[in-house]
Amino acid sequence: MGIQLKMAVTYIALILAVLVVLNIYPVYVSEDFLFQSKQDSLTARAELYARTLAGLDELSPEGVEHVMGLLGAQETRVIVVSNTLEALYDSSVDANLEGSLMLENETRAAAGGYDYFRSRVADDAILSVAATPIMIGGLPAGAVCVYDADSSRAALLVDISANLRNMSLGIMVGIVAVCLLLSRFFTRRISRLLRSMRRVRDGDYAHRAEVGGNDELGDLAAELNALSERFEGVENMRKRFVSDASHELKTPLASIKLLADSMVQSDTMPPETMREFALDIAEETDRLSRLAQRMLDITRLDAGAPGDVEPIDFEPVVRRAARMLEPLAAAEEITIKMELEKECYVRASDDYAYRIVFNLAENAIKYNKPHGEVHIFLFRKEEEIRLIVADTGIGVPSEDLSRIFDRFYRVDKARSRAAGGSGLGLSIVYDAVRQYGGRVEAESVAGQGSRITVSFPAWREEAEQ
Ligand code: ADP
Repeated sequence: MGIQLKMAVTYIALILAVLVVLNIYPVYVSEDFLFQSKQDSLTARAELYARTLAGLDELSPEGVEHVMGLLGAQETRVIVVSNTLEALYDSSVDANLEGSLMLENETRAAAGGYDYFRSRVADDAILSVAATPIMIGGLPAGAVCVYDADSSRAALLVDISANLRNMSLGIMVGIVAVCLLLSRFFTRRISRLLRSMRRVRDGDYAHRAEVGGNDELGDLAAELNALSERFEGVENMRKRFVSDASHELKTPLASIKLLADSMVQSDTMPPETMREFALDIAEETDRLSRLAQRMLDITRLDAGAPGDVEPIDFEPVVRRAARMLEPLAAAEEITIKMELEKECYVRASDDYAYRIVFNLAENAIKYNKPHGEVHIFLFRKEEEIRLIVADTGIGVPSEDLSRIFDRFYRVDKARSRAAGGSGLGLSIVYDAVRQYGGRVEAESVAGQGSRITVSFPAWREEAEQ
């Protein structure tokens, strides 16, 4: 069952229940009120007759007839019976019951000394009967029963309930119409939202839901749009990554293929050339495996898996990375100078901390000038640990500076490739630093050098507890 139908059925059932109560209760109350007033007036009349008849020495049909004639009964019917339930008087013209036994409830009760009253609504009249004993000498000598058929008040009751019914019907029709309109309005918006969700589910991330309104549905649509926007961003990034990655893979693979083909096809290749080609193949394979490792790092960081995060001392990590890069620096005749403060603790994974320092220092060497210098500083500044890697190298033109942290971005492709770069080193640094709550800033003057500053929140033992 659709939500529209469910809502409408629920509303209508509720309203129906309220209307039913509203229809029954007033009729019930007015009926009760009418019965009460009937009881008062009929009982008063019956008592009046009984008191007057009690003035007789004995209840004879003639005596009763005479008294009743004087009193002039106005009710529909008045019956007087003796205490043996014999009819003594009947005001009804058609029925002459005189002398016959009156075995009704009311006559029995009243002749036995009890007051009696009963009222009920018949088809077109309220039928009531009041009976009261005629007490002579302290004993019930007979009973007076007064009958009344009130059609005008019955008509009033019928009128009230008919009016209520018509009003309820009117209200019901109105409410059903409003309910249907409202639920249609809502469900139309829900259906629109649903359609949008399905489109997004099917991959149309550029789609935006237009539901309108300032209520929860509007909020839902806004959330959906924010979600699709995010999907769109992630999807675009994924596409770009895949296409950039395959592009990166193609070049070394093509070189390997070319080298291998020439080795296979040439019968006369001298062994030295053969060796050179094999070395080239090995180099390209190294490049590929470096690229694969970096792509793996990026994917891991993307998945929010920044390794085993624990408080680590950065100083030994920096020394380890510098030691590893010593041969590369020596080959380029570059000096690495370090000023490292001890006990610079950061919450990070040892593995990625090493990669951050290594990638920055490697770049500082790769993009340096012969006899250049690399300076590495590590110190604590207020609540932060700062790592600065500065070089006296070729620098980055200012228009490229904002993009060097992008994936696969390289200022000088040929130089990067020649140095074994993949364009992923800085983006790994950027992603990893962000994972540990830090930030990276790059400054550079083309032709003079660059300086990359990484700031981490400092880890303190006290803060942990
Ligand atoms: P790559 O593998 O190419 O070195 P990175 O992501 O590490 O990739 O760096 C991106 C680009 O930023 C490099 O290709 C280079 O052009 C530039 N770059 C990075 N570090 C430096 C630096 N210290 N000096 C000059 N240019 C740099």
